[in-house]
Amino acid sequence: MPRIYDLHCHSDQSDGILSPEALVSRAKRQDVDVLALTDHDTTIGLQRAREQAEIEGLEFIHGIEFSCLWQGRGIHLVALNIDPDHPALVELVAEQSAVRQERAQTIADKLAALDMPDALQGARKYAGDGVIGRPHFAAFMVEKGYCKNVRQAFKKYLGSGKVGDIKQAWPQLEAVAACVRESGAVPVLAHPSKYNMTRTKLCAMVDAFKASGGLALEVVSGMQQQSVTQDLAKIANEYNLFASCGSDFHAPDQQWQELGKFSPMPDNVEAVWAYWE
Ligand code: AMP
Ligand code: MN
Ligand code: MN
Ligand code: MN
Repeated sequence: MPRIYDLHCHSDQSDGILSPEALVSRAKRQDVDVLALTDHDTTIGLQRAREQAEIEGLEFIHGIEFSCLWQGRGIHLVALNIDPDHPALVELVAEQSAVRQERAQTIADKLAALDMPDALQGARKYAGDGVIGRPHFAAFMVEKGYCKNVRQAFKKYLGSGKVGDIKQAWPQLEAVAACVRESGAVPVLAHPSKYNMTRTKLCAMVDAFKASGGLALEVVSGMQQQSVTQDLAKIANEYNLFASCGSDFHAPDQQWQELGKFSPMPDNVEAVWAYWE
Protein backbone atom coordinates (compact mmCIF):
# COMPACT_ATOMS: atom_id res chain seq x y z
CA MET A 1 0.00 0.00 0.00
CA PRO A 2 1.43 3.41 -0.92
CA ARG A 3 1.77 5.79 1.98
CA ILE A 4 -0.75 8.62 2.27
CA TYR A 5 0.84 12.07 2.39
CA ASP A 6 -1.36 15.03 3.35
CA LEU A 7 0.89 18.07 3.06
CA HIS A 8 -1.58 20.92 3.55
CA CYS A 9 -4.06 21.48 6.39
CA HIS A 10 -5.11 23.95 9.08
CA SER A 11 -5.69 23.92 12.83
CA ASP A 12 -7.41 26.42 15.12
CA GLN A 13 -4.12 28.29 15.34
CA SER A 14 -5.21 29.86 12.04
CA ASP A 15 -8.62 29.42 10.40
CA GLY A 16 -9.14 25.71 11.05
CA ILE A 17 -11.61 24.31 13.58
CA LEU A 18 -9.63 21.55 15.30
CA SER A 19 -6.84 21.95 17.84
CA PRO A 20 -3.43 20.77 16.60
CA GLU A 21 -3.85 17.60 18.72
CA ALA A 22 -7.36 16.84 17.44
CA LEU A 23 -6.20 17.47 13.88
CA VAL A 24 -3.39 14.92 14.16
CA SER A 25 -5.72 12.35 15.76
CA ARG A 26 -8.23 12.82 12.97
CA ALA A 27 -5.47 12.43 10.37
CA LYS A 28 -4.45 9.16 12.01
CA ARG A 29 -8.05 7.92 11.89
CA GLN A 30 -8.15 8.88 8.20
CA ASP A 31 -5.10 6.65 7.61
CA VAL A 32 -2.71 9.50 6.85
CA ASP A 33 0.90 8.31 7.16
CA VAL A 34 2.68 11.64 6.72
CA LEU A 35 1.06 14.91 7.76
CA ALA A 36 2.22 18.51 7.36
CA LEU A 37 0.46 21.21 9.39
CA THR A 38 0.44 24.40 7.30
CA ASP A 39 -1.41 27.09 9.23
CA HIS A 40 -1.70 30.54 7.64
CA ASP A 41 1.35 32.67 8.50
CA THR A 42 2.03 31.01 11.85
CA THR A 43 4.17 28.22 13.28
CA ILE A 44 2.49 28.32 16.69
CA GLY A 45 0.69 24.98 16.40
CA LEU A 46 3.64 22.95 15.14
CA GLN A 47 5.11 21.80 18.43
CA ARG A 48 1.78 20.59 19.81
CA ALA A 49 1.01 18.79 16.56
CA ARG A 50 4.44 17.16 16.49
CA GLU A 51 4.09 15.91 20.04
CA GLN A 52 0.68 14.44 19.24
CA ALA A 53 2.08 12.85 16.07
CA GLU A 54 4.73 11.13 18.20
CA ILE A 55 2.00 9.72 20.45
CA GLU A 56 -0.12 8.56 17.50
CA GLY A 57 2.80 7.14 15.50
CA LEU A 58 2.39 9.41 12.52
CA GLU A 59 5.17 11.06 10.57
CA PHE A 60 5.04 14.82 10.97
CA ILE A 61 6.32 17.57 8.67
CA HIS A 62 6.69 21.15 9.88
CA GLY A 63 4.92 23.52 7.50
CA ILE A 64 3.30 26.90 7.05
CA GLU A 65 1.18 28.61 4.38
CA PHE A 66 2.34 32.13 3.58
CA SER A 67 0.09 34.85 2.17
CA CYS A 68 1.81 36.77 -0.63
CA LEU A 69 1.22 38.93 -3.68
CA TRP A 70 2.00 38.40 -7.32
CA GLN A 71 1.05 41.05 -9.84
CA GLY A 72 -1.45 42.43 -7.36
CA ARG A 73 -3.18 39.10 -6.68
CA GLY A 74 -3.33 37.26 -3.38
CA ILE A 75 -1.30 34.03 -3.73
CA HIS A 76 -0.49 31.28 -1.21
CA LEU A 77 2.87 29.61 -0.78
CA VAL A 78 3.14 26.46 1.34
CA ALA A 79 6.55 25.87 2.88
CA LEU A 80 7.38 22.29 3.85
CA ASN A 81 10.03 20.89 6.12
CA ILE A 82 10.64 24.26 7.68
CA ASP A 83 12.94 24.99 10.59
CA PRO A 84 10.60 27.15 12.72
CA ASP A 85 13.63 28.62 14.50
CA HIS A 86 15.56 29.66 11.40
CA PRO A 87 16.20 33.43 11.80
CA ALA A 88 15.06 34.37 8.28
CA LEU A 89 11.83 32.42 8.75
CA VAL A 90 11.23 33.78 12.24
CA GLU A 91 11.56 37.30 10.85
CA LEU A 92 9.20 36.61 7.95
CA VAL A 93 6.58 35.11 10.27
CA ALA A 94 6.84 38.13 12.59
CA GLU A 95 6.29 40.47 9.63
CA GLN A 96 3.31 38.44 8.45
CA SER A 97 1.81 38.60 11.90
CA ALA A 98 2.16 42.39 11.97
CA VAL A 99 0.58 42.67 8.52
CA ARG A 100 -2.31 40.47 9.65
CA GLN A 101 -2.98 42.61 12.73
CA GLU A 102 -3.00 45.83 10.75
CA ARG A 103 -5.06 44.31 8.01
CA ALA A 104 -7.65 43.11 10.51
CA GLN A 105 -8.04 46.67 11.76
CA THR A 106 -8.44 47.92 8.17
CA ILE A 107 -11.07 45.27 7.42
CA ALA A 108 -12.94 46.26 10.59
CA ASP A 109 -12.84 49.94 9.56
CA LYS A 110 -14.22 49.09 6.12
CA LEU A 111 -17.04 47.06 7.65
CA ALA A 112 -17.80 49.79 10.19
CA ALA A 113 -18.25 52.23 7.31
CA LEU A 114 -20.89 49.83 5.97
CA ASP A 115 -22.79 49.83 9.30
CA MET A 116 -21.18 46.69 10.67
CA PRO A 117 -19.49 48.05 13.81
CA ASP A 118 -17.12 46.31 16.25
CA ALA A 119 -16.04 43.67 13.76
CA LEU A 120 -12.47 43.46 15.08
CA GLN A 121 -13.63 42.47 18.54
CA GLY A 122 -16.24 40.18 17.01
CA ALA A 123 -13.76 38.42 14.74
CA ARG A 124 -11.15 38.10 17.53
CA LYS A 125 -13.64 36.03 19.49
CA TYR A 126 -13.62 33.44 16.69
CA ALA A 127 -9.85 33.62 16.13
CA GLY A 128 -9.27 32.83 19.83
CA ASP A 129 -5.54 32.65 20.44
CA GLY A 130 -4.83 31.86 16.78
CA VAL A 131 -4.00 34.32 14.01
CA ILE A 132 -6.93 36.35 12.75
CA GLY A 133 -8.19 36.10 9.16
CA ARG A 134 -11.15 36.74 6.91
CA PRO A 135 -13.02 33.54 7.92
CA HIS A 136 -13.24 34.93 11.47
CA PHE A 137 -14.80 38.11 10.13
CA ALA A 138 -17.20 36.00 8.10
CA ALA A 139 -18.25 34.08 11.23
CA PHE A 140 -18.91 37.37 13.03
CA MET A 141 -20.98 38.68 10.11
CA VAL A 142 -23.11 35.54 10.11
CA GLU A 143 -23.54 35.76 13.89
CA LYS A 144 -24.82 39.32 13.57
CA GLY A 145 -27.16 38.44 10.71
CA TYR A 146 -25.33 40.68 8.20
CA CYS A 147 -24.93 37.63 5.97
CA LYS A 148 -26.81 34.36 5.90
CA ASN A 149 -23.68 32.21 5.70
CA VAL A 150 -19.90 32.34 5.33
CA ARG A 151 -20.09 31.87 1.59
CA GLN A 152 -22.26 34.94 1.23
CA ALA A 153 -19.94 36.96 3.48
CA PHE A 154 -17.08 36.21 1.09
CA LYS A 155 -19.18 36.78 -1.99
CA LYS A 156 -20.42 40.18 -0.86
CA TYR A 157 -17.69 41.62 1.37
CA LEU A 158 -14.54 39.56 1.88
CA GLY A 159 -13.77 37.68 -1.32
CA SER A 160 -11.45 38.66 -4.15
CA GLY A 161 -11.92 42.28 -5.19
CA LYS A 162 -14.49 43.06 -2.45
CA VAL A 163 -14.17 45.77 0.17
CA GLY A 164 -12.70 43.47 2.84
CA ASP A 165 -10.13 41.87 0.53
CA ILE A 166 -7.13 43.76 1.92
CA LYS A 167 -3.98 42.21 0.50
CA GLN A 168 -1.72 45.08 -0.54
CA ALA A 169 0.67 44.69 2.38
CA TRP A 170 1.59 41.04 1.81
CA PRO A 171 5.15 40.47 0.56
CA GLN A 172 5.87 39.53 -3.04
CA LEU A 173 5.70 35.83 -3.95
CA GLU A 174 9.28 35.93 -5.25
CA ALA A 175 10.63 37.32 -1.97
CA VAL A 176 8.78 34.71 0.10
CA ALA A 177 9.94 31.85 -2.15
CA ALA A 178 13.54 33.05 -1.90
CA CYS A 179 13.36 33.38 1.89
CA VAL A 180 11.80 29.95 2.36
CA ARG A 181 14.39 28.34 0.12
CA GLU A 182 17.25 30.16 1.83
CA SER A 183 16.02 28.80 5.16
CA GLY A 184 16.41 25.28 3.79
CA ALA A 185 12.68 24.57 3.43
CA VAL A 186 10.71 23.56 0.34
CA PRO A 187 8.62 26.32 -1.31
CA VAL A 188 5.40 24.93 -2.83
CA LEU A 189 3.02 27.02 -4.92
CA ALA A 190 -0.34 26.27 -3.28
CA HIS A 191 -3.59 25.31 -5.07
CA PRO A 192 -2.66 26.85 -8.48
CA SER A 193 -6.13 26.28 -9.91
CA LYS A 194 -7.83 28.48 -7.30
CA TYR A 195 -6.56 31.82 -8.57
CA ASN A 196 -8.86 32.25 -11.54
CA MET A 197 -5.93 32.89 -13.85
CA THR A 198 -5.56 32.13 -17.53
CA ARG A 199 -3.10 29.32 -18.21
CA THR A 200 -0.68 31.83 -19.72
CA LYS A 201 -0.75 33.96 -16.57
CA LEU A 202 -0.42 30.92 -14.34
CA CYS A 203 2.63 29.76 -16.29
CA ALA A 204 4.19 33.22 -16.01
CA MET A 205 3.72 33.02 -12.24
CA VAL A 206 5.14 29.50 -12.08
CA ASP A 207 8.13 30.73 -14.05
CA ALA A 208 8.74 33.62 -11.61
CA PHE A 209 8.24 31.27 -8.64
CA LYS A 210 10.75 28.78 -9.99
CA ALA A 211 13.28 31.52 -10.78
CA SER A 212 13.08 32.67 -7.14
CA GLY A 213 13.83 29.26 -5.68
CA GLY A 214 10.39 27.60 -5.89
CA LEU A 215 10.63 23.80 -5.89
CA ALA A 216 7.13 22.33 -6.13
CA LEU A 217 3.62 22.80 -7.42
CA GLU A 218 0.59 21.61 -5.45
CA VAL A 219 -0.73 19.40 -8.22
CA VAL A 220 -3.52 17.96 -6.06
CA SER A 221 -5.55 20.12 -3.66
CA GLY A 222 -8.54 18.35 -2.16
CA MET A 223 -11.07 16.82 -4.50
CA GLN A 224 -10.54 18.25 -7.95
CA GLN A 225 -11.35 17.42 -11.55
CA GLN A 226 -9.10 14.94 -13.29
CA SER A 227 -8.50 17.43 -16.12
CA VAL A 228 -7.22 20.00 -13.62
CA THR A 229 -4.84 17.48 -12.04
CA GLN A 230 -3.52 16.43 -15.43
CA ASP A 231 -2.90 19.98 -16.54
CA LEU A 232 -1.10 20.90 -13.30
CA ALA A 233 1.03 17.76 -13.62
CA LYS A 234 1.96 18.90 -17.10
CA ILE A 235 2.94 22.34 -15.88
CA ALA A 236 4.99 20.84 -13.02
CA ASN A 237 6.89 18.72 -15.51
CA GLU A 238 7.35 21.57 -17.99
CA TYR A 239 8.97 23.70 -15.29
CA ASN A 240 10.86 20.86 -13.66
CA LEU A 241 9.03 21.19 -10.37
CA PHE A 242 8.17 18.53 -7.82
CA ALA A 243 4.49 17.76 -7.22
CA SER A 244 2.80 18.12 -3.84
CA CYS A 245 -0.63 17.07 -2.59
CA GLY A 246 -2.88 17.91 0.32
CA SER A 247 -6.44 18.24 1.49
CA ASP A 248 -6.34 21.91 2.62
CA PHE A 249 -8.52 20.60 5.47
CA HIS A 250 -10.10 23.30 7.66
CA ALA A 251 -13.15 21.71 9.29
CA PRO A 252 -14.77 18.28 9.67
CA ASP A 253 -17.99 19.30 7.89
CA GLN A 254 -16.29 20.08 4.56
CA GLN A 255 -16.30 16.71 2.81
CA TRP A 256 -14.42 17.96 -0.25
CA GLN A 257 -11.44 18.85 1.97
CA GLU A 258 -11.16 15.85 4.30
CA LEU A 259 -7.79 14.86 5.73
CA GLY A 260 -6.08 12.26 3.55
CA LYS A 261 -8.95 12.24 1.05
CA PHE A 262 -8.09 13.90 -2.21
CA SER A 263 -7.77 13.13 -5.88
CA PRO A 264 -4.93 10.71 -6.65
CA MET A 265 -1.49 12.05 -7.57
CA PRO A 266 -0.74 11.33 -11.21
CA ASP A 267 2.15 8.88 -11.67
CA ASN A 268 3.97 10.94 -14.29
CA VAL A 269 5.22 13.48 -11.72
CA GLU A 270 8.06 13.50 -9.21
CA ALA A 271 6.49 13.61 -5.73
CA VAL A 272 7.89 16.36 -3.51
CA TRP A 273 8.84 13.95 -0.70
CA ALA A 274 11.48 12.49 -3.03
CA TYR A 275 13.33 15.73 -2.28
CA TRP A 276 13.78 15.01 1.42
CA GLU A 277 13.39 11.22 1.76
P1 AMP B 1 -7.09 35.18 4.94
O1 AMP B 1 -6.05 34.20 5.37
O2 AMP B 1 -7.50 36.10 6.02
O3 AMP B 1 -6.68 35.89 3.67
O4 AMP B 1 -8.39 34.34 4.59
C1 AMP B 1 -8.32 33.41 3.53
C2 AMP B 1 -9.02 32.12 3.92
O5 AMP B 1 -10.41 32.30 3.81
C3 AMP B 1 -8.69 30.97 3.01
O6 AMP B 1 -7.54 30.30 3.45
C4 AMP B 1 -9.90 30.09 3.13
O7 AMP B 1 -9.79 29.26 4.26
C5 AMP B 1 -11.02 31.08 3.40
N1 AMP B 1 -11.81 31.41 2.19
C6 AMP B 1 -11.38 32.01 1.08
N2 AMP B 1 -12.38 32.18 0.20
C7 AMP B 1 -13.48 31.66 0.77
C8 AMP B 1 -14.85 31.53 0.39
N3 AMP B 1 -15.28 31.97 -0.79
N4 AMP B 1 -15.70 30.93 1.24
C9 AMP B 1 -15.25 30.48 2.43
N5 AMP B 1 -13.99 30.57 2.85
C10 AMP B 1 -13.11 31.16 2.04
MN1 MN C 1 -7.76 29.05 5.18
MN1 MN D 1 -4.60 28.71 0.63
MN1 MN E 1 -4.64 26.32 3.09
